Amino acid sequence: MKPHFLPVLLALAACSAERESLKPIDPVPFSDVTIRDGFWSPRLDAHKDVTLAVCIDQIENQTGRIRNFENAAKGEGRHSGIFFDDSDVYKALEGMAYSLQNHPDPVLEAKCDEWIDKFAAAQQPDGYINTFYTLTKDQPRWTNMDRHEMYCAGHMIEAGVAYYKVTGKSKLLDVCIRMADHMMGIFGPEGRHWVPGHEEIELALVKLYEVTGEKKYLDFALWLLDQRGHGYGSYGDERTWPTHYYQDEVPVREMKEISGHAVRSMYLYCGMSDVAAYTGDTGLTAALDRLWDDVVLRNMYVTGGIGQSSSNEGFTTDYSLPNLTAYCETCASVGMVLWNWRMNQFKGDAKYVDVLERALYNGALAGISLVGDRFFYVNPLESLGDHHRLSWYGCACCPSQICRFLPSIGNYVYGVSREAVWVNLYMGNTATMQAAGKKLTLTQETGYPWTGDIVLTVGVKGSVKTQLRLRIPGWCKSYTLFVNGEHVEPEVDKGYAVLDRKWKDGDRIDLELAMPVEVVAADPRVKEDEGKRAVQRGPVVYCIEETDNPDFDAVRIAEDTAFETSFEKDLLGGIVRIQADNGAKYIPYYAWDNREAGKMKVWVDLRP
Ligand SMILES: [Zn+2]
Repeated sequence: MKPHFLPVLLALAACSAERESLKPIDPVPFSDVTIRDGFWSPRLDAHKDVTLAVCIDQIENQTGRIRNFENAAKGEGRHSGIFFDDSDVYKALEGMAYSLQNHPDPVLEAKCDEWIDKFAAAQQPDGYINTFYTLTKDQPRWTNMDRHEMYCAGHMIEAGVAYYKVTGKSKLLDVCIRMADHMMGIFGPEGRHWVPGHEEIELALVKLYEVTGEKKYLDFALWLLDQRGHGYGSYGDERTWPTHYYQDEVPVREMKEISGHAVRSMYLYCGMSDVAAYTGDTGLTAALDRLWDDVVLRNMYVTGGIGQSSSNEGFTTDYSLPNLTAYCETCASVGMVLWNWRMNQFKGDAKYVDVLERALYNGALAGISLVGDRFFYVNPLESLGDHHRLSWYGCACCPSQICRFLPSIGNYVYGVSREAVWVNLYMGNTATMQAAGKKLTLTQETGYPWTGDIVLTVGVKGSVKTQLRLRIPGWCKSYTLFVNGEHVEPEVDKGYAVLDRKWKDGDRIDLELAMPVEVVAADPRVKEDEGKRAVQRGPVVYCIEETDNPDFDAVRIAEDTAFETSFEKDLLGGIVRIQADNGAKYIPYYAWDNREAGKMKVWVDLRP
């Protein structure tokens, strides 16, 4: 039962070989990317010093989440909270594990072990684990597909894999394996049908496959995907949604349009991507291509937010993008990062990283306060002054999501394929990776996203022949590139400038991205943004807040509005503020609601 390191490594090597054809790019994991960056380091420090403590306090003291595990272990006492609350504890633990990778901390590790002991004690003799069902007994297990039993199991698996990778400790991973085997003893080709009402288990099973080398988990993930769209779903009678809410209307390979719940959709697409990467299933990737167009071209806000409506936490009709009532759940923006990261690894196309970056700097980052202690669940693009971050939520998926997302952002910076190193995001860091069979170190220094100047330095013993593919962001209209001080104009392929040469230790690349203030218009079919414009600079979408603009309702913009920018180091953690020639002051959207309450909007009326 107990996994060992050696077979794991062999399994991973085998996986990479199988994957070569369909998914050529492997990400460089955040554990190999050390971030030292003027923009991101303060956010990561706030995560370590503030956010983790907030999450632990909420889980242990302010709510009954950890007590549910204690009660389930004893088989007595009541369950408090919502039936999927276990997932928040697992997601927080995943964030704690990632934080330990970045900053070893024996006290935090002891806290993780303490929680894991409680999870293990709450696992039932047959391998089942879910504190709601163990404690409430109000309906039998595995009778309502919308009760998130597999969703919670999936988050536990992600946490278990994360903690095992960081510490080598397998206690939680063993709990996960027992739960996975329990589920596979009930469901599958020889057992019962099941359509998880909230996806997550699929991508988690692929992680379990990767770490154990046990192909049965990959097979089960594929089987679960293929359960969709055949009428097998049964979601109880508490709240009846149409099947598209659950992504259960058509089989996955026939999907053409995004519909239903936004976060569930994102997790499904991630699961489809992960399974396709190993099985070479082009039916899945073709569906993902269609879905990507539908999400990004017809249903995405300028902030990278998705899911317009609060009624279904999800999608409505194409080009309907209300601002005041925009739902744009923080988890959905993180989901956009997770999914677009995977799409890029299939295609090597920078357009996916453009969307990833948009969702990262805007929709997702808005989800947490600058101090790191308060969270948005809903991220509208306009506010009357009554929408504020809270320290927690009854449904706390978003705080726990941010908790696990931030410490792992190093994942999204680099990729490696047989012939190239892919530089996707710009932030100060030092990263190590294998390129053309050699250990390569890349160091980035940059003032991004406030400046477009990036310096990359190569570290290698001797030399290495490989392409360096530098992403030229979709927002960037002009740039200059130098290698060792010499101006170069390389081929640009799918949004990447391709530098193909023999690299030596100390080689230096200077990339200068022009970063003017841009006035952007929405697709004319978006009625809500008719006669309005938004302001963007680099990857950062801006907004106006009433506190800077006392004449808020009268603020107008024009196509030819001129802007001045200034770096204000003491404002909102240090930002580039934009001032329009008519006096209007803009701040980054992610930084709103960190000062006195007031109105906010992204889309500003055009001057008549
Ligand atoms: Zn959420």
